[in-house]
Amino acid sequence: MKQKGNIGVTTENIFPVIKKFLYSENEIFIREIVSNAVDATQKLRTLASKGELKGETGDLTVRVTVDKKKGTLTVSDRGIGMTAEEIDRYINQIAFSGANDFLDKYKDDAQAIIGHFGLGFYSSFMVSKKVEIVTKSWQEGAQAVKWSCDGSPEYKIEDAKREDRGTDIVMYIDDDCKDFLEEAKVEQLLKKFCHFLPVPVAFGKKKDWKDGKQVETEEDNVINDTTPLWTKKPSDLKDEDYKAFYRELYPMSDEPLFWIHLNVDYPFHLTGVLYFPKVRSNFDLQKNKIQLYCNQVFVTEEVEGIVPDFLTLLHGVIDSPDIPLNVSRSYLQSDQNVKKISTYISKKVSDRLSSLFKTDRADFEAKWDDIKIFIHYGMLSETDFYDKASKFALLKDTDGKFYTYDEYNTLIKDQQTDKDGNLIYLYANNKEAEFSYIEAAQRKGYNVLLMDGELDPAMVGMFEQKFEKCRFNRVDADVVDRLIVKDDAQTGEALDAGKQELLQGVFQTQMPKLAGTEFHVETQAMGETAAPIVITQSEYMRRMKDMAKLQPGMAFYGEMPNMMNIVLNTDHQLIKTVLADSEKAVGEALKPIDAEIAGLTARRDAINQQNKDLKWDEIPQERKDDLSATEKEMEEQKQKKTAVMGEYAADNKVVHQLIDLALLQNGLLRGEALNNFVRRSIELI
Ligand code: ADP
Repeated sequence: MKQKGNIGVTTENIFPVIKKFLYSENEIFIREIVSNAVDATQKLRTLASKGELKGETGDLTVRVTVDKKKGTLTVSDRGIGMTAEEIDRYINQIAFSGANDFLDKYKDDAQAIIGHFGLGFYSSFMVSKKVEIVTKSWQEGAQAVKWSCDGSPEYKIEDAKREDRGTDIVMYIDDDCKDFLEEAKVEQLLKKFCHFLPVPVAFGKKKDWKDGKQVETEEDNVINDTTPLWTKKPSDLKDEDYKAFYRELYPMSDEPLFWIHLNVDYPFHLTGVLYFPKVRSNFDLQKNKIQLYCNQVFVTEEVEGIVPDFLTLLHGVIDSPDIPLNVSRSYLQSDQNVKKISTYISKKVSDRLSSLFKTDRADFEAKWDDIKIFIHYGMLSETDFYDKASKFALLKDTDGKFYTYDEYNTLIKDQQTDKDGNLIYLYANNKEAEFSYIEAAQRKGYNVLLMDGELDPAMVGMFEQKFEKCRFNRVDADVVDRLIVKDDAQTGEALDAGKQELLQGVFQTQMPKLAGTEFHVETQAMGETAAPIVITQSEYMRRMKDMAKLQPGMAFYGEMPNMMNIVLNTDHQLIKTVLADSEKAVGEALKPIDAEIAGLTARRDAINQQNKDLKWDEIPQERKDDLSATEKEMEEQKQKKTAVMGEYAADNKVVHQLIDLALLQNGLLRGEALNNFVRRSIELI
């Protein structure tokens, strides 16, 4: 027989479309052709099992071969084959309604086009100038046929010689796709797309080293694992099997922390294994991805929409024939089945975590630092997951002890409730940098949490919303006595205003000028054993500035200087000494200035008293002038006072040493200032 005809595509531009628009994903032709061969083989197996096939099935290996001379890539199977009539039905008459519209809409989405039209076979034209099918049906007495087409809508079909049942797809590779004739390239693609197909796929023979040369052995180079782990029963598998499979998927990665075997039959089919990876860096996190399969055929690594967002960071495999693969992403996200799948996976993960927590808490704690990024991400992005995870999620304190949220609440309730009934959670972001603050808080009987994860700032925000009556303060947000305000009374004995002012002046004048930082000096009685000088930064401002770094819309906060409070402990001997020395040195010099300021203050207050009930227009000009003159003079006197204090303090080594020590403790002493400090320290020794 011999026949010529036109392929039943209603549009003539199908080939240009295949070639042009799908070019970027042209590699998938190999998946389409090999999985067709696998399908034909499985159909044969089914026929054999039903007893419909006469004779033996024999070796069913699908073989992929490259002939560089002819420029062909061939996929051969010993499956059911096709009769001429079947070729006509399955290959020539592609059901093609509304093709133009569809192609137009999805021209950038190769998956959609190929799947929608069953263009699987035609994807071979993405890389071929000509394709031949040489096939012989399994049915008794079938005539072998050869179909060929050079990429025009015209095909040729003729009788052929073929001993054996099955099909060869011979692709004459295009000149600009020559790399598909390179062994290494083909092998890499087979590994990527055909790694877990259920029928053995061989690419040539295994090679061996002999006398310093590579030689072919007798053994088939089978590139796939036909019964991957996720198709097996969990009860038949050991930990070692799961680890080995992980290595097979991600050869260069560390051992996973644990895994979840997914297996559902109703209301959808889904199998798979998800691994919690041990993450060493952000790079690791993004490099390895969950692979999506459909009946063991690799589909994609883009699982967004199918797996909840926070779980896309996990590793492993999902296999489901119920995920509509050939549709656009936006459709996928609205599909009810897909939503159910996503919910199911999320629930499976939280159940597994919960049972790990319950059965082996020590092990769970040991893994916490590695898994918390996944759990926190989930809690932040899904309320349902938060509700479940809040039973097993852990808080870790700066001593490395772990608590559940409930346990921690009980632990700190007595010591850390403030006068308004708020529970104050204290935390540190960096154990080293905030060491002295942590120690001060602990000495006071407080517990300090360690919040050093990338998502912890967001978690703090969420806790403050979810936990009842609570606030989070970083340990350096204030001096320890004021971190948790238990009553309104001052703790120590406050200094009188004059002394406070003198101390503040002496220190304020000596604070370094740091770009982007402003220091505000204040005094506080903190007890003799507390540090003489402490630097604090308001929780609110710090958080705003941290957020500003991440959100462009908050640039306003980002541009504001860092406001640092320098708190002098008036109970400490060193501060007392500085005060006494200062009084001795400048007390006399300041007296007349203070008297002057006192006089001016009284005068200003008197003028203001007179003006109290008047509008600005009603005040006589004379009095307005008097007021501004008084204020100006006050300002001058204050400057004079600052100058006197500054001049004295400039030579006070104790003041400088105290300031530098406080800066040093906060990583703010650098460069020349650090050098000066070292030199002064040596002198003092
Ligand atoms: P799909 O596989 O989605 O049905 P294809 O275009 O890939 O679409 O294939 C169309 C049909 O051609 C298949 O359904 C099958 O009946 C037949 N076919 C393709 N390749 C083979 C093969 N290697 N052996 C037997 N039949 C095949």
